[in-house]
Amino acid sequence: MLNKDFRPSKVEQCVLCPGCLKMCEGIPRTESEYAKEGTMLHDKVAKHDISGLSSEQMICVERCFELMSRLAPDDVWQHEIKMNVVDDEKVEILEGTADLILINETENDNFELISNGILIDLKFGRGAVTPASENWQLKTYATMMFQKYPISTCRCIIFQPRLGNAGFSETTYSREDLTDFPLLLKNIYAETQSGIQLHAGQKQCKFCDAKPTCPEYAVWTKGISSAVAKIEHTHELSIEGLHDALVQTSQVKDFIKQLTAQVASIENVARERLIKNEVTPEQIGYQLKTRKGARKCADAQGVFNLLHNVIPIEAFMSCVDISIPDLETLYAKEAKGKGLFKSQKEAVKALADTIAPFINQKPDGFMLKKLTD
Ligand code: SF4
Repeated sequence: MLNKDFRPSKVEQCVLCPGCLKMCEGIPRTESEYAKEGTMLHDKVAKHDISGLSSEQMICVERCFELMSRLAPDDVWQHEIKMNVVDDEKVEILEGTADLILINETENDNFELISNGILIDLKFGRGAVTPASENWQLKTYATMMFQKYPISTCRCIIFQPRLGNAGFSETTYSREDLTDFPLLLKNIYAETQSGIQLHAGQKQCKFCDAKPTCPEYAVWTKGISSAVAKIEHTHELSIEGLHDALVQTSQVKDFIKQLTAQVASIENVARERLIKNEVTPEQIGYQLKTRKGARKCADAQGVFNLLHNVIPIEAFMSCVDISIPDLETLYAKEAKGKGLFKSQKEAVKALADTIAPFINQKPDGFMLKKLTD
């Protein structure tokens, strides 16, 4: 193996900041309370055991069981499977342990049996992780699966039971998709060893043990505070100052976005626990407030029939709001039934021309878009 610290969960960090491996050398790895809880919950899922868990932890673990049985019967899942990625000479590049995998066999169109893999990575944290399609850790595990098993595809799932519907994302790789990935991993590792290239950012620095001693991190956080300080003086900035402030502002935006997502997930947990009476308002300093559900008129014609003695039709219509997308869908459907247009696009265009005199089109606005986007 190249280096035991070069592991699947570290690959994305090494891509974003190649110097992080060297910066973390010799720093003892500390395990936070959250990490310890994560390890314990992984173990509970593997042993199919919910004893000793709080009710909230129990719900998380049960959500994992539900997902597993929805995808396949419980007994076919393999837990905590150690695998590795090797290069063309069979030299190990890195190793890792996948939470849950299974191999199933299906028939293809020619009635031949083919094997496919499913891999689930469980994350018990409350902050959203990189989605499956962009997740380097998952790509690394999928490569391990292709090297270990004769599978044609690998369906990769990230499941974060604490995030509700937002906690599920998936992608599927074919063997061909990842043919070059071992070489890429090797190159990523080589970059980590060529000098110390540091690039700070919210994603890579978040869990980096080198934060307290890293000079780049210090500069980056200073940049964030100086960008915040400049906000009050934007009218005084030169073009160069404006450029610097905008570059720094995008870093501040990323930082605030992550922070806001974390605060929102804490608030969600607080709300859930208050609803289930697991905590009292006094314990957490928040209480539940009832929000009235939105009301929507289901039958405008029916309402008018009841009110026409009081409200004239013109005045009534000023309260009726038409949804343009709904009207487009309806018009395209009806026009298709009458054979008026060849395509939905044509119908929508004709509708737009027909109703244009009655539509209030607000003037176009302008937004900023990064040059690189
Ligand atoms: S703190 Fe950030 S910039 Fe510094 S080594 Fe870690 S990831 Fe790189």
